[in-house]
Amino acid sequence: MSDGARTNVPAGDGGWDHEVDVVVVGSGAGGMTAAICAHDLGQSALVIEKSDQYGGTSAISGGGVWVPCNHLMAAAGAPDNYDDALAYLKAATRGMVSEERLRAYLDQAPQMLRYLERKTGLRYRTMPQYSDYYPHLPGSRSGYRTLDPLPFDARELGDEFAHQRPPQPGTLIAGRIAMTAAEAHTMLTKERGWTLLLARKMAAYWLDLRWRMKTARDRRLTLGAALVGALRKAMMDRGVALWLETALDSLLSDSRGVTGVVAIRRGAPVRIRARRGVILAAGGFEHNQAMRQRYLPAPTSAEWTVTPSENTGDAIRAGLNLGARADLMDHAWWAPTMFVGGREKRRALFIERALPGCVLVNRKGTRFVDEAAPYSDIVYAMYADNEKTGANLPAWLIFDAEFRRKYPMGPLLPGMVRPDKSLPPDWLGTVYFRADSIDELARRIEVDVEGLRGTIERMNQFAATGEDLEFGKGGNPFDRYYGDINVKPNPCLGPIAKAPFYAIRIDAGDIGTKGGLLTDEYARVLRDDGQPIAGLYAIGNSSAAVMGPSYPGAGSTLGPAMTFGYIAAHHLAGV
Ligand SMILES: Cc1cc2nc3c(=O)[nH]c(=O)nc-3n(C[C@H](O)[C@H](O)[C@H](O)COP(=O)(O)OP(=O)(O)OC[C@H]3O[C@@H](n4cnc5c(N)ncnc54)[C@H](O)[C@@H]3O)c2cc1C
Repeated sequence: MSDGARTNVPAGDGGWDHEVDVVVVGSGAGGMTAAICAHDLGQSALVIEKSDQYGGTSAISGGGVWVPCNHLMAAAGAPDNYDDALAYLKAATRGMVSEERLRAYLDQAPQMLRYLERKTGLRYRTMPQYSDYYPHLPGSRSGYRTLDPLPFDARELGDEFAHQRPPQPGTLIAGRIAMTAAEAHTMLTKERGWTLLLARKMAAYWLDLRWRMKTARDRRLTLGAALVGALRKAMMDRGVALWLETALDSLLSDSRGVTGVVAIRRGAPVRIRARRGVILAAGGFEHNQAMRQRYLPAPTSAEWTVTPSENTGDAIRAGLNLGARADLMDHAWWAPTMFVGGREKRRALFIERALPGCVLVNRKGTRFVDEAAPYSDIVYAMYADNEKTGANLPAWLIFDAEFRRKYPMGPLLPGMVRPDKSLPPDWLGTVYFRADSIDELARRIEVDVEGLRGTIERMNQFAATGEDLEFGKGGNPFDRYYGDINVKPNPCLGPIAKAPFYAIRIDAGDIGTKGGLLTDEYARVLRDDGQPIAGLYAIGNSSAAVMGPSYPGAGSTLGPAMTFGYIAAHHLAGV
């Protein structure tokens, strides 16, 4: 097959190189949660990981989980309501996900969270102001459902820390210093005390002298690094095995179901028997260009994703080879991304678009979306606009000298900290574009001059009145979360008036694909006829997302990956 699928190895009796109760394929947060839980339920578990580093996308992520009705909400005096959460999920998923799976998530996610807090070093806190992504839908909440991991000390991992996938520079202060989501919010939106906070973080990093002599990596793990660090420590405490550089090649089965896997371990095939089952947790197919072209809307490029390169859909293909059914293959956890060069190559723009004084346009120079909308919706809007106008993909984010001075934009730190003259010269014309007038900028990036001029005039009127009459930017709590609270009357709207003017090319990127093997409420992989394949489970981005085409709130991918890992472990242990 053009997408690189391999033929299934026939089932064999014996001849196993290794034997455990549960083989977990992939060491993201979902896979590790499943392995820890399986162990605690009396099963022997082995995690196999293709990369020479553990943690996958989960390790470079924000680490946030979206868990309605979680116990921390109640403790914070903001109790949730199950029926509201179900109504919200039903509205968001638009009938594309079975109610059983939605209920399984709502029932088990709070349990999973309590279990990890009780049994491991992972701790979360609620984010009171982080709104659900669709505040207009019934049952939404304007805060508390998203949880941010508390920092975790890398010393607890000992030498194993060297094998943890490092965070991307974009999630660190000055590319090195860790911050929690709450701290990032304070600094980005310039809440009171942000400069002191910044100074404290920098001092703590540089005064950590013993650790500094060892590594440039921050000992204080935050975001996805804290999540993955805490889970890895829990595996180590239990003696749950992790084999790095061991890639799933194919699934083995007999008439009763899946019996094990063939993996390639440091170049050599190894047959691993799974007495109770195999849990596929190997992420999505975002780095497989052939699969992207086959399933995702066009145009599409593996260059636009920001995830680690190992996620090439291996587990999804292995499941399809066994007759499994796939769903949602034309969807991704979309995010607008920009080229940044260097080791990082590309960065997702989660936040900057909400700040006042920028506008997102197509090649006609016209807007097509509320710039502060959830990242997933931005890319859906790019494809929809391209369908209509043929003038999108890429789109362009335009801002002025005042925005540039005050706010970050991808790798560009605010100009008051790092002015243009101190940026690498080769960034101009690749990472960002600049011109002394709007007309000249439009010509440089091949956007319609009149169109862009008119759009900016209208945006400037909206900034003055505080009301975006076209797309309602800043008109809901989600938009305003990353606005600048010092800007009035609308924290997301500001004039684009001061030369020079800037542009960033925006591509239809993603933070992972969300189509995969269709599963039931126990995370069992289903065949085309709707029957489960015995002994085969799929979670995270190897499975079709329980969130359907939607992104209900920050943490909607890790929350389900970990929850269905927890569910799968219980099911295969028979409890
Ligand atoms: C910058 C960024 C921020 C994000 N922030 C958040 C957030 O705050 N909250 C949230 O919910 N989501 C967030 N996401 C999305 C989230 O990180 C991913 O959707 C999630 O980590 C996917 O989990 P997973 O277990 O399916 O895949 P991964 O975490 O990618 O793990 C899959 C693992 O499987 C391994 N693998 C692949 N193929 C094989 C094979 N053949 N054999 C063995 N192993 C294999 C991979 O190497 C990888 O280690 C973010 C993503 C990014 C990029």
